[in-house]
Amino acid sequence: MLCLRNVTYRVDGRRIIERINMRFKEGMTYSILGPNGAGKSTIAYILMGVMKPSEGRVLLDGDDITNLSITERARLGITLLWQEPARYDGITVEKYLTLGGKIKVDKNEMREILELVGLPYELYAHRFVDKSLSGGERKRIELASILMLRPRYAILDEPDSGLDITAGELIENVLEYFRRVGTTVILITHHEEIAAKTDFAYFVCAGRIIKKGFSREIVDYYKKTCGRCFLTGRMEV
Ligand code: ADP
Ligand code: MG
Ligand code: MG
Repeated sequence: MLCLRNVTYRVDGRRIIERINMRFKEGMTYSILGPNGAGKSTIAYILMGVMKPSEGRVLLDGDDITNLSITERARLGITLLWQEPARYDGITVEKYLTLGGKIKVDKNEMREILELVGLPYELYAHRFVDKSLSGGERKRIELASILMLRPRYAILDEPDSGLDITAGELIENVLEYFRRVGTTVILITHHEEIAAKTDFAYFVCAGRIIKKGFSREIVDYYKKTCGRCFLTGRMEV
């Protein structure tokens, strides 16, 4: 289980997130909903070790991992799909997905995963991961790379942003795949119907958890109240 315990993150004295408690159990899927600026990416970065909390702890199976680096957490099976994917000039999609040949992969599995993210193997495996690919294609490749890893935890920061209208179905397929291989998913999205497909959800606003529970219930509540929460920045629970 991956946990945030009483996590606060401050920048110049301003609280970006405040006393956040979250628990992500083995093999379950979660979404984090909230308006822009709610602190969702900050939560993702703190889980991945991109940022260190000002207060509070990050725990993995009860062990304190607050001071572990991104690389050390990656070795423990925690992965992050960035909101803005990077480019790797001079490396093919196939090579990128095998981490430069470091991981042994089944060709059929790579084919299946590329198809799953909407990129036919024949058309994309030998393309270069450079600026000749569109933002949406790069995002799909990043998703494929996380699927290939079969991580223990996949933190997906707005995987649907920058994708076309097929994004909903794509993310659904990604959730299905991760469920099948037992990966715990932490999905950050504004897309309510995608969020409703996960098991549990957290609704975050102004750096605090407004409500948590079964995704369907949280999504309905989010739809009803998000406008008000966004305007006032605070809301009674
Ligand atoms: P979300 O992902 O929910 O849209 P973020 O976690 O990216 O929100 O950001 C939450 C808030 O914290 C935003 O108002 C953002 O501008 C602010 N913020 C995040 N990082 C910094 C930083 N390093 N310096 C100043 N403000 C920051
Ligand atoms: Mg956002
Ligand atoms: Mg964000």
